[in-house]
Amino acid sequence: MSLIKVDFVCPKCHKKYRIKLFKEVNQDKIPEIIDRSLFKAKCSECGEEVTLDYSLVLYGEDYLIYYKVNDEKVDIKEERKIKRICTSFKDFKEKILIFRDNLNDVLIEFIKETLLRSIKEDFKDEITDIRYNSLDKNKIVFYAFGTNKYLFVNKEDYDKYLSNFKNIEISDLIEVNKDTYFKYYEMMKK
Ligand SMILES: [Zn+2]
Repeated sequence: MSLIKVDFVCPKCHKKYRIKLFKEVNQDKIPEIIDRSLFKAKCSECGEEVTLDYSLVLYGEDYLIYYKVNDEKVDIKEERKIKRICTSFKDFKEKILIFRDNLNDVLIEFIKETLLRSIKEDFKDEITDIRYNSLDKNKIVFYAFGTNKYLFVNKEDYDKYLSNFKNIEISDLIEVNKDTYFKYYEMMKK
């Protein structure tokens, strides 16, 4: 894990202090990314807490996720089978959960789109977003923002879909989200 130290001025008391920013982290830091504590700094003088957003690379066992905010450049120093880039925290968090649970993110995006199409009538336009939540034994759990509801897909159905995917490896660092997934879905479909 590499980190850099930067000078920071407290927005409240204006004291200058030094904070540590991680440039790359491994899986141990996942809980701190999810609850965003990794992005928080506390002023040693007045205790004011600020949340910073900065780019970093998370290295998992067989994946890496480059969380890119602004134009800060972070070098990819290690290779991984799956390489993703995320430009929003929501996408970054969701990718972490998907890869933590050993799921295919392209297929998850496809399922989200399918869910959205199939339930739209019921909730009308209430749903603002659907995000992967967790894997619960034989169910894949999604959360529908705007409705406060969880949606479930059988793991068995997911596996059936996955068996229709070619086992191709995309070696590039790609952004897979609801706007871009279809391109990769087409490539992977048998
Ligand atoms: Zn302060």
